Amino acid sequence: MADQTNSVNTAYIGLSSNLGDAIANVGKAINELSKIGNLYACSSLYLTKPWGYLDQPDFINAAAAIETNNTPRQLLAALKGLEKSMGRQAMSIRWGPRLIDLDILTFGDLQLSEADLTIPHPFMLERAFVLAPLAEIDNSYKAAYQNLPESLRLQVKRL
Ligand code: ADP
Ligand code: MG
Repeated sequence: MADQTNSVNTAYIGLSSNLGDAIANVGKAINELSKIGNLYACSSLYLTKPWGYLDQPDFINAAAAIETNNTPRQLLAALKGLEKSMGRQAMSIRWGPRLIDLDILTFGDLQLSEADLTIPHPFMLERAFVLAPLAEIDNSYKAAYQNLPESLRLQVKRL
């Protein structure tokens, strides 16, 4: 991982919210991301159906790209700090409702598999709510999005 330190890397961040004013929450988080790194791309907002745990409100999702001098761990800590500062509470339900969720989708071409940090984010290639906004900021994900089952793509609406 030495080559990921003290250099500029591009990280793709997945954002989601389904508590309170979800549109405002995602908008605020995008704004705050620009203080964590150089925000150079940002998708539209998407209204999406819950995944994994269905008995909860629809989500707002987006994806952003930042250039950062941080290591992946520093970036994860910054994202968790931002989640907390926005008022995210610890969750009791896996994949349950959240005020704001900020996930590292990719970090350069790094592959990392540790207990509390997996990059690329697991399952990102199976989730329409991740791939639809991501394909907007990086064309190379368009094919993966188009290859998802239609039933999944129909659960995601660009606002
Ligand atoms: P979710 O899996 O729904 O995003 P959380 O946001 O609560 O749930 O994340 C749980 C844990 O996932 C975090 O504490 C973090 O350490 C870990 N994690 C592993 N890989 C990643 C990643 N690529 N981005 C963000 N969090 C990650
Ligand atoms: Mg998360």
